[in-house]
Amino acid sequence: MAETRAAPHVPLEAKSPFDLRVDLGKDVPETDVRTALAQGDMGFMHSFTTGSAVDGPGVRVVGWTTGCMWRCQYCHNPDTWTMRNGIPVSVTQALEELRKYRHGLKVMAGGVTISGGEPLMQRRFVMKVLAGAKDMGIHTAIETNGFLGAELTDGDLDDIDLVLLGLKTWDRERHRALTGRDNEPTLELARRLPSRRQPVWVRFVLVPGLTDDPADIAQIAAFAAKLGNVERVEVLPFHQMGRFKWETLGIRYALEGTEPPSPEAVAAACETFRAQGLTTH
Ligand code: SF4
Repeated sequence: MAETRAAPHVPLEAKSPFDLRVDLGKDVPETDVRTALAQGDMGFMHSFTTGSAVDGPGVRVVGWTTGCMWRCQYCHNPDTWTMRNGIPVSVTQALEELRKYRHGLKVMAGGVTISGGEPLMQRRFVMKVLAGAKDMGIHTAIETNGFLGAELTDGDLDDIDLVLLGLKTWDRERHRALTGRDNEPTLELARRLPSRRQPVWVRFVLVPGLTDDPADIAQIAAFAAKLGNVERVEVLPFHQMGRFKWETLGIRYALEGTEPPSPEAVAAACETFRAQGLTTH
């Protein structure tokens, strides 16, 4: 496959992942998509953003991949569900992007985080980018829903310094209703990482009426605490910044009337994690 460059009118770098991006890879033939996924020399990305202080330690470049097999009711970036909404990007191009920032990232004790979408939908591509970043001495992180965690080899995990793992809700039926999928593969990935001493940050989105059952949060907290490798838990209050994407894409949005959680509710969720000895932010 010829090396593919981003369409000139859409820069790979975005101000934020809340830029709406659709159909940017729609002209890539299906056979090339299959080859890309199989070989990992090319991937599809919403964008790179810079200067993030919330997606891992220090100041980070974040690569937002497209493609996700879940359909979380509160997803802020539904344009990243479809792989071909993203820009076709070669590994070389992605690494060129990171090379520009490598010195600054080191000075600011940061690194690169690959998020999405769900990065493991493009595991080979993502791992080539992270391995290249490691070779440049850049700290690497991946933010994942964990559903395809079984596809990560031990060699892949060696190239990931930090796993940001989304735990959405504990109850299986509730998880299916919330995301469309089972949570067992995610929990399986979480159970695999402690023996490797692989640091994990748990991300938990607090959504009134969906993920705020105190007993459910307590079960996530107990699970996370037992793992022994969870360095911190981030309680992320639901917000409506992604609502316009649902509307523009014409997808029915079930959370139209849902308000962000109150500060008290966020504090109570944090306290549930702290009560298990976990550090929360
Ligand atoms: S896993 Fe992430 S990207 Fe996928 S639907 Fe859920 S919130 Fe959206």
